[in-house]
Amino acid sequence: MPPTFSHLIGKVKCIRRVTKVPMKKNNLEQLSQLAFDAQQHSHSPYSNFKVGAAIETSTGETFAGCNVESAAFPLGQCAEATAIGNMVSNGHKRIGHIVIASPNEEMCFPCGGCRQKIAEFASDDTPVTMVTKSGDSHETTIGELLPNAFRAHDLDK
Ligand SMILES: [Zn+2]
Repeated sequence: MPPTFSHLIGKVKCIRRVTKVPMKKNNLEQLSQLAFDAQQHSHSPYSNFKVGAAIETSTGETFAGCNVESAAFPLGQCAEATAIGNMVSNGHKRIGHIVIASPNEEMCFPCGGCRQKIAEFASDDTPVTMVTKSGDSHETTIGELLPNAFRAHDLDK
């Protein structure tokens, strides 16, 4: 028998965890600056929602990207995807930390697709930090954002 709504309600716990990832302050400041610099180049004439992202690789290189929209709406690309493309195009494949810069005072969490894209190049404990226009930040990990991510090793089974 399929579970009823009230049956499910009894089992659902409201879990709201905030993971604090220890982070070097300068590292966050530098990545935030790179993300906001990239945000300035956002091509978002349809949404006018400008996003920037910056990655520090596991070996210390940095790459940034902005969202790139298209008149053919589904072809638009998120800032995280652009930053990942820049990283991979330059021969790097391990994200050490990714920062996402919002255009307003709300945290801009990565969309579902970007969580998968980040997980491709990151381990569960890789920090993901959202920063707002005025500099507030929220730190978590890709494992928190995308538990049980599907990764290359799943294809071996
Ligand atoms: Zn996205």
